Amino acid sequence: ATPTALLVGTGRGAQLGILVKGPEVLESTRRVDTVVLDKTGTVTTGRLTLVDVIPADGVSREEVLRFAAAVENASEHPIAAAIVREVPELLPVSDFVSTDGVGVSGVVEGRRVVVGRLRNVSLPMELTEAAVAQGTVVAVSFDDKVVGLVVVSDVVKPTSAQAIRSLRELGLRPVLLTGDNAEVAASVAAEVGIDEVIADVLPAGKVDAIRNLQAQGRVVAMVGDGVNDAPALAAADLGLAMGTGTDVAIEASDLTLVRGDLRVAADAIRLSRKTLGTIK
Ligand code: ADP
Ligand code: MG
Repeated sequence: ATPTALLVGTGRGAQLGILVKGPEVLESTRRVDTVVLDKTGTVTTGRLTLVDVIPADGVSREEVLRFAAAVENASEHPIAAAIVREVPELLPVSDFVSTDGVGVSGVVEGRRVVVGRLRNVSLPMELTEAAVAQGTVVAVSFDDKVVGLVVVSDVVKPTSAQAIRSLRELGLRPVLLTGDNAEVAASVAAEVGIDEVIADVLPAGKVDAIRNLQAQGRVVAMVGDGVNDAPALAAADLGLAMGTGTDVAIEASDLTLVRGDLRVAADAIRLSRKTLGTIK
C-alpha cells in the first residue's frame, strides 16, 4: 500500500467525520464481512427514560426510587441517569461497588442496596412479566431482598435503520450484541432490520461473542460506545467507537465516528475499500 493513497483516505475520512488512528487501520477494514453492533448508545440513543416502578408489597414506589437513585448516582451507566433524574434529593452512599454489565451496590442508611440485572427475583411472576413487557428491567434489593423493579426504556436512533441498510448494501452481515435481555434485543433488532441477535451477555461475553464469530471464519468489525464494549472493540478485527461514547471505548478502537452517527460506519468501510482499491 502506498502511504500517499492511505493518507488521502485518512484525510477524506476526517471530512466524513471519521477519525482514523493510523493509516494502516484502513487495511484491516478490507476483509470485514460482519458488523457487530452494541445496542445501547450505538443503535439506540442511550438516553433512557423511566417507564415504570413496581414495588414489592409493603414498599413504596418512592422508597424504591430514592434508595436506587442514591446508589446509581455514582454510576455512569445510562440506566443510572434515568433513575437519578427522578429524585430531587440524593441520600449519601458508602461502600459503592460497580460491576460492569451487572449493576451497582452501596450502603444507604445502613442498608446494602443493590440495583442491577434481573436474577432470582422473589416478586410474583405477573409483576415481573408486566415489567419485562415494557422495557429493560432492573431489580432493586435491600439487604438481599428484592423490594422492587424499575423499568427503563430507550428509543432507536432515527438513522439506525438506514445505517443497517447501507451496511447490507456493502455485503456486510449485521449482528446485534447486548447485555440487555432477549425480548428488548429482539424488538430493537426487528425495528432496525437485524436478524442475528446475541443478548443477555456479560461484558466478558461480548469478547467471547467476537471470538466465536472469528472462529467461524468471519472477519468482524465491532461498533460500540460503552466502557463494557472496550474489550470487544479491541478484540474485533476492526473497532469503531461512537465519538459520543466513553473515552475507554474510543481508546480501544481503530476508528472513531466523531458525531456518533451509525451511518458513517458504512462510509468508513466504503472509503477504505475505495482507497485500497486504488493501491496495488
Ligand atoms: P448494553 O450491552 O445494552 O450496553 P450493559 O452490558 O451495560 O448493557 O448492561 C447489561 C445489564 O446489566 C443491563 O441491562 C442491566 O440489567 C444491568 N446493569 C448494568 N449496569 C447497571 C447499573 N448501573 N444499574 C442497573 N443495572 C445495570
Ligand atoms: Mg452501549
